[in-house]
Amino acid sequence: MPTILDGKALAASIRRRIQEEAAKLPRRPGVAVILVGDDPASQLYVTNKIKDCGECGFFSRLIHYPVSVSEEELLGAISKLNDDAAIDGILVQLPLPASFNERRIIESISPAKDVDAFHPLNVGRMVQGDSVLWPCTPRGIGRLLDAYHICVDGKTCVVIGRSEIVGKPMGLLLLQRHGTVIYCHSHTQDLAAMTRLADILIVAAGRPGLITADMVKDGAVVIDVAMNRDPVTGKFTGDVCFDEVKDICSHITPVPGGVGPMTRAMLLENALTLARLHMGLLAFDKTSAALLEEYH
Ligand code: NAD
Repeated sequence: MPTILDGKALAASIRRRIQEEAAKLPRRPGVAVILVGDDPASQLYVTNKIKDCGECGFFSRLIHYPVSVSEEELLGAISKLNDDAAIDGILVQLPLPASFNERRIIESISPAKDVDAFHPLNVGRMVQGDSVLWPCTPRGIGRLLDAYHICVDGKTCVVIGRSEIVGKPMGLLLLQRHGTVIYCHSHTQDLAAMTRLADILIVAAGRPGLITADMVKDGAVVIDVAMNRDPVTGKFTGDVCFDEVKDICSHITPVPGGVGPMTRAMLLENALTLARLHMGLLAFDKTSAALLEEYH
């Protein structure tokens, strides 16, 4: 039986630590969440984020717009939040309805309040290996690997998926930890030949059943990022055939209870980092200095 990477338990302990750390700050960290429209999945994610903030003693503000809100109005709200000293992190729940220019909206968030780490400035710093912020999912996976003492250095790491929020930054994080990184995606010719090379396999395609036992190297670490909702049962499944792959690998994440809770916890960590930065409590280095310049 492999080691099951218990993201739920680890995330709970991280939240407790964040709550303790937040209680020591001169003021409560503040997070603003902007939701546009009534997509049920987005509504659920936003509700959870607000709940997590409350649990950790953060101040949070939910701004919910109908889908008819104009882009200018949204930009105006973000501009006010950029100037609001009680707000350390601003999050726009994605995806936005198709009529919005998502890139323009994300770029209007101050990089010093970019709690999701999606702003191009923070992405650029991440590429340079020089960021205090990381997108929540890769950051959470990094913490999961740390907690189970899984060393990346020198390992062959295969990442399936190249999205801006999961796949791309995940590969960068593994590269920063000295892994040899192979990106696979929907144009990859022979996926199984690639996945069989992996000492660490990260799967984020959103294709249930994509990874079968014959695609996994003996003793590999398998991280299943995907959250596919079964249309019949309504339950979440990953991309990895857990029941067969568990007999081959050394470590595996369950779905649910693996990467999902870690992603949620990392939003709080990013917010805490930004709050410390704004309160002048973050160890001062080149990157935080540059972020503070954006803030003032
Ligand atoms: P996305 O749709 O933006 O990207 C999917 C990627 O998978 C693309 O790069 C595509 O090229 C690749 N892909 C699709 N089919 C493939 C195939 N057959 N073979 C190889 N590559 C293939 O999705 P995303 O936002 O990156 O999310 C991916 C999955 O992770 C989804 O299931 C999503 O729900 C889940 N997710 C989970 C968390 C979490 O916290 N657990 C966070 C974000 C996303």
